Order: sequence, then C-alpha cells, then structure tokens
Amino acid sequence: MQTLLDELRRIVGTAHVFTDGDLSAWEQDWRKRSHGKALAVVRPASTDEVAQVVKACAVYRQAHPSCGVSIVPQGGNTSLAVGATPDESGHQIVLSLQRMSAVRRLDADNLTVTVEAGCILQNLQERAEEASLLFPLSLAAEGTCTIGGNLGSNAGGTQVLRYGNARDLCLGLEVVTAQGEVWHGLSGLRKDNTGYDLRDLFVGSEGTLGIITAATMKLYPLPAAQLTALAAVPSLADAVALLALAHRRLGAGLTGFEVMGQFSLSLVAKHFPQLPMPLSLASPFFVLLENSDHETEVHARSQFENLLEAALEQGCVSDAVVAESLSQARQLWHIRESIPLAQALEGLNIKHDISVPISRIPDFVRATDALLQQAIPGVRLVNFGHLGDGNLHYNVQAPAGADAAQFLRDHEVRVNTLVFDSVQAFDGSISAEHGVGSLKVDHLAHYKSPVALGMMRAIKQALDPQNLMNPGRVLRV
Ligand SMILES: Cc1cc2nc3c(=O)[nH]c(=O)nc-3n(C[C@H](O)[C@H](O)[C@H](O)COP(=O)(O)OP(=O)(O)OC[C@H]3O[C@@H](n4cnc5c(N)ncnc54)[C@H](O)[C@@H]3O)c2cc1C
Repeated sequence: MQTLLDELRRIVGTAHVFTDGDLSAWEQDWRKRSHGKALAVVRPASTDEVAQVVKACAVYRQAHPSCGVSIVPQGGNTSLAVGATPDESGHQIVLSLQRMSAVRRLDADNLTVTVEAGCILQNLQERAEEASLLFPLSLAAEGTCTIGGNLGSNAGGTQVLRYGNARDLCLGLEVVTAQGEVWHGLSGLRKDNTGYDLRDLFVGSEGTLGIITAATMKLYPLPAAQLTALAAVPSLADAVALLALAHRRLGAGLTGFEVMGQFSLSLVAKHFPQLPMPLSLASPFFVLLENSDHETEVHARSQFENLLEAALEQGCVSDAVVAESLSQARQLWHIRESIPLAQALEGLNIKHDISVPISRIPDFVRATDALLQQAIPGVRLVNFGHLGDGNLHYNVQAPAGADAAQFLRDHEVRVNTLVFDSVQAFDGSISAEHGVGSLKVDHLAHYKSPVALGMMRAIKQALDPQNLMNPGRVLRV
C-alpha cells in the first residue's frame, strides 16, 4: 500500500494525506455508533485531483485484486446512517471534499448557483441571501453538512413540502466516475430530455457510484415575510386535517409543517427548562407551521390568523400561537430542533426515519404504537417529524427507569422488525431521508423488491465493476 500512499501524496501534497494521529473526526460517525480505521484521509483541492486520486486507487486495485483498497467519499460527516466513515479493515481511503468549497457561479437570471461539493450548506444559504435569493434546503446540521453530502444522501429537512428534497433542487452535476473520468454535467437546464437521467442516478447513491465534485442547484426569490405558528391538535388525524386546510388556504406559502408528539415536547421541557413553552403540554400532538409570503408581513399574518381561526372552528386545532417576531419564531423552531438532543439526554433509543402516505399516518401510528406496547409494556415513543412530507422520526425509548443500553441489546432487532414490517404493511419506506448507509443495508435487502434490488445491482456493476466506491453501503455486491 506504500506505493499507493506515495502516489496520493504526489497528487494532493503530503500535507493533505493524513495517516496517523487522531483521525476520529473522519473515522467516527456523528452518532458515535461506529469507529473505523482509515488507510488514509485524503483531501484533494480540485476536480482534477479527485480524478487522479480515484484513478490511482482503481489502477492499484486492479493490480492487487485482494488488497481491499476502496474509497469512502466524505463531506461534513453528519450522516445518520453510518455512510461516510471507513470500516475497520484499515484499507479504505476517506476522500474528504472539505477543501473544495467554492461557489463557482451564481446566475441570478437563471435562478441557479454552481457550487463545489465541499461547500457547507449554511454558507450556500448565506451566499444566496446576499443576492436576495433563497436556497431552500434547510436542516439542523446545516452549519456542518455539505452540498456533496446533501446530494449523496438526497437530504430532506424542513422545507421539502414546498421546495422538494436535495434531488428536486439539483439541475446538474460534475462527477468523477469510479474509473477516474470526469462527467461534466453541470447544466442549469430545467428541460433536457436527452436520454437516461444520469444526475438522478448519482443523487442519493451515497457515494457508491462516483464522487460528486460540483453541482448546479436551483434558487428561488426570497419571501418578503416568513411567519411561524405553533398549534395544539387533539389527534394525529386532526394534524392531517390541518395540513389539508393549510394547503388550501396558504397554497405555495406553506413552507413548513412539522408534527411533535406530547412526549417529545415533554422531554424538551424536562432537559431544557430554560426554553419557554408557549402552549400547555396537555395536548397529545402539536404542529409547527410556517407561512412564507411574497407580499407583506401584514398579508402573511392575516392569512395565517384566518387559517387558524378556521381550524379552531373546525375543531382540528384546540389552541394556537403565532410568533410575534423573528426571535419568537426562532424560539419555536428551536423547540422542534431540540427534540433529538433531549431524547439523547434521556438515554439511548432506537431511531427510525420512515415515511408513510400522509393519509395513512394516523392509522400507522395507532397500529404500531399498540404493537410495541404489547411487545414491550411501558415502552415510550418519541414521535415527531416532517408530517407535511409523510416523514416521521418514530423513535422508541426504554420504559421509564429501565437501563437504556440493556434495552437496546435486548430489543433493538425485535423493535426494528416490528416497526419496519408495519411500515411495509402501510406502503411506506424504511428510510425517508437519512439514507441506507451501512445501518440499513440488511433491512433494505429484506424490504426492497427483488426486481428493484436486481436493477440496483446491475447499475452498480455497470458503473463500478471493481466495487471501489463506498462498498458495503446501500447494497452488498
Ligand atoms: C443534527 C442533525 C440533523 C439532521 N437533520 C437532517 C434532516 O432534517 N434531513 C436529512 O435528510 N438529514 C438530516 N441529517 C443527516 C445529514 O446531515 C444529512 O444527510 C446531510 O445531508 C449529510 O451531509 P454531509 O456533508 O455531512 O455528508 P456525509 O455525512 O459526509 O456523507 C453522507 C453520504 O454521502 C456520501 N457523500 C458525501 N460527499 C459526497 C460526494 N461529494 N459525492 C458522493 N457522495 C458523497 C457519503 O459517502 C455518505 O454516504 C441530520 C444530521 C444531523 C447530525
């Protein structure tokens, strides 16, 4: 392997190939579920350097078929599916895109921006805002995650119901293939029917088909006003009814619709008592709504108040508050974003990022809650998520007072099977937005249809016959 490492140092410079010291920032996943061992962390600065690195690895692997050398592309390393860290073999190269962070071109008339893969999401949002434009992808990891990782994992977040996920925001890609060639596909075209959609193959492929080095993304006009409201709802069915009403009343202005179960909010109140709770926690569910308006704040507020009045009359809302200022709106979002941290402070839990058709969510939750209670009496459900997209973070916490680590050891497999079987019975997906990574490879093999898996394997074999790119993620080949 020494000759390969020498070659990589020649390509990117000795200062950008790390082989010893503390590499945990690249070797350990965000949730600290996995700590691998990299052959090296390599940090190229240009598309040409990425191509040379991949070619060097491909040639080395061809010459030494049993060496096990492979490449794990990495952006901000915030994957929640253990997709961006090396395994324990010591044979994988972490190819970090961190140094490729430039915004290459913002075309205001075409409403597009072309950006390198290592650009941090928040930096891109700010760059768009400087041009009075909106880049709408938004998620709690936005200060760390990168556009390459967002596209690699087809990230979702809080604005999907209006603007779509990372895939919907992407118009073109520049990709280094598994052979070290460069595909220049950075078109800013909204219409291009010239054969198979290669862009869509790479988006969501989690680094298993090639390395995204740059992307052309859509931009939108900045709204004139953005208002946030918190509503207490008597049931999940009422939350779904409120969503339908909000779609009708606000149209494209509805940019956020998050649901939070009572237990989720009670954990936030318990672990972050300094956060003010604007409503009593007596209701079983709460909804956070966002209205983006292209006229004025007065218009947005009157639309929002009309909607909530109608919802109160209809009975699908029992109480509601509209944020009076930007800082109050931020506080409401902060409550929502504090749920994952509050549940971590409460103890280890079994997480599920699932989607079900919105119309079936109330029945899915009722049925699955009952099955879990039957299987493990006293189990606690931290249920929240992007209801507007049919996406729930349906997490299962040990009964109060139980040893959380022991709970995971005893019940994780059974709970996953129970939840995923239920998701399948309700025509849902076992991974809504976090991807498959290595966490769900075996689940995918079980729940995806054999025909779909066969086509996915054929694509992998055609584009990466050496299985050089992020092996063991998404599919086993
Ligand atoms: C606090 C927190 C909140 C989150 N909230 C959300 C959320 O609301 N919605 C959501 O969808 N996700 C969420 N995530 C998950 C994660 O942040 C996103 O998936 C994010 O898009 C990953 O970006 P990254 O740059 O960190 O990618 P990484 O973690 O580095 O990589 C993710 C995957 O993409 C591949 N990859 C990385 N760069 C490239 C590239 N240039 N070319 C090809 N493949 C590449 C990696 O190999 C890996 O498989 C959250 C994570 C955290 C920690």
